[in-house]
Amino acid sequence: MAPTGYFTHPDCRKHRMGDGHPECPERLDAIEDRLLICGVADALQRMEAAPAPLADLELAHDRMHVAALRGLSDALVEDMAAGGPSLAHVDPDTAMNEHTWTAALRAAGAALAATDAVIAGELANAFCAVRPPGHHACRDRAMGFCFFNNVAIAARHALQRHGLTRVAVVDFDVHHGNGTEDILAGDPRVLMVGFFQHPLYPYSGTPPRADNMLNLPVPPYTRGAAVRELVERHWLPRLEAFEPQMLFVSAGFDAHRDDDLGQMGLVEADYAWLTERLVDVARRHAGGRLVSVLEGGYNLPALARSVEAHLRVLADL
Ligand SMILES: [Zn+2]
Repeated sequence: MAPTGYFTHPDCRKHRMGDGHPECPERLDAIEDRLLICGVADALQRMEAAPAPLADLELAHDRMHVAALRGLSDALVEDMAAGGPSLAHVDPDTAMNEHTWTAALRAAGAALAATDAVIAGELANAFCAVRPPGHHACRDRAMGFCFFNNVAIAARHALQRHGLTRVAVVDFDVHHGNGTEDILAGDPRVLMVGFFQHPLYPYSGTPPRADNMLNLPVPPYTRGAAVRELVERHWLPRLEAFEPQMLFVSAGFDAHRDDDLGQMGLVEADYAWLTERLVDVARRHAGGRLVSVLEGGYNLPALARSVEAHLRVLADL
């Protein structure tokens, strides 16, 4: 049995959007510490992510979007050398520092490398502990802490470079994955299923933009039992009928009870249950192939415990 891969890179820690920003490098430290202390790290195949080639970013993004972010990064570095500010904002909550460009390439590169290794059978499945996250990044726009859509890039890579014909994208972040929807809506090779608190940033997803999007908006204070029922009633039949050859997971853990960026009530056991259902689908239809990529999750202890629960299921511990 091939191991579960754990992709990360020290560059992903260097991206920082200002003091007190919830999408902070310490998120990765919390995950890493927890996995070491609980022993789960020992069971994982640790991999360093190579930067994504620019051509691969263009599987999901307009060339102009990639060029614009690169230009913004270059201008920032020049301005900093001349004594200018150390952050360049793309929206009020989303900023580049001098390391963001490289971190974003590593994050997308992790999802790509994980996809390659899982399809090659070198890994059973994989988790990418990377930042910046990706699911709000649209075809031509960075927003909501996201620059490049790591999951959409990897899904398109599996379709276009590896010749798969059906891939599923699953998004359990508390926020709607509007960027992934923007990129993949109407692509008949993709089924995307998600739930998200509504109304909540980015105030999208109702109605879905195309038939290949299964969006389940849920009210604040929705707890795990209700989410499990929705997943059983809506996600699983659609996933079963679609028979995906590979699953991609936008693994945000901000629907956790302790997370202040949303008001949902999931706990670690719910993330374990969700992961079990997805692993089941992957085993039945996709030879177990599943790549999970970190999105949100801002309460550090809850994030770390939830990732542990997710990985225990992926690694069959
Ligand atoms: Zn989120």
